[in-house]
Amino acid sequence: MLQIEDLSVKVGDKEILKDIHLYIEKGESHVLFGPNGAGKSTLLNTILGNPKYEVVRGNIYFKGKDITDMPMHERAQLGIGISYQSPPAISGVRLETMINAISKRSDEEMEEMAKRLNIRHFYQRDLNVGFSGGEVKRSELLQIFAQNPDLVMFDEPDSGVDVENVELLGGIINHLLDKDRKPSERNKSGLIITHLGYILNFMEVDKAHVLLDGVIACSGTPDEILNEIIKNGYQRCVSCCQKKS
Ligand code: ADP
Ligand code: MG
Ligand code: MG
Repeated sequence: MLQIEDLSVKVGDKEILKDIHLYIEKGESHVLFGPNGAGKSTLLNTILGNPKYEVVRGNIYFKGKDITDMPMHERAQLGIGISYQSPPAISGVRLETMINAISKRSDEEMEEMAKRLNIRHFYQRDLNVGFSGGEVKRSELLQIFAQNPDLVMFDEPDSGVDVENVELLGGIINHLLDKDRKPSERNKSGLIITHLGYILNFMEVDKAHVLLDGVIACSGTPDEILNEIIKNGYQRCVSCCQKKS
């Protein structure tokens, strides 16, 4: 589904990502850990095609197509979607209007998901204007569900969300990534950034990576990497991975 080869990325004059290799198969979900400023959001924005992020070396392939120089809207049409960490508030555009503009789903499907996400009471409000942390994230997930992309990236879907909502959001992300289907019937892929890992109790992920100073320093199973991070911090996690490999 997604193949990243030898990718280096600049923002302004600064090289943020270096020599990134990442392969995500159809049906797989990967989690990306790393301290603040490591370049996690930069990687997601680069995959999305945000023009602020300049690819200085390497290639990105999606569904076998080289998308490295493809404009953002074409990547979206091809099936790449994102749930932003802090999407902008848009006065004058209701969540309902946005959903109607982007939805590829039936009214019944949208109705059911809106109910599951408990969205009714802010469906008519302007997008993200005065939304709580949890409401912003639920609105993002409803938009993802509406667009139905094949590769979904989630930038800290659990940040600013209370504990009760993390279980709900984790379950819905699992559903958006086809993880509630048999492995042979999974058609979606995911890339999830999280700091805490608590949300991973409620969803299935296949691989984990640690991004440190713009480099993928370490990859492994989500459990072993998360345990190392919790016990020893990011730097020590990396030395542990190097010993193992
Ligand atoms: P993370 O998501 O891992 O916290 P980011 O990808 O947001 O990290 O940022 C990585 C580095 O790139 C930081 O040093 C940040 O200041 C810089 N950076 C990211 N986006 C921009 C931007 N649009 N303009 C300038 N610097 C940026
Ligand atoms: Mg950050
Ligand atoms: Mg970030």
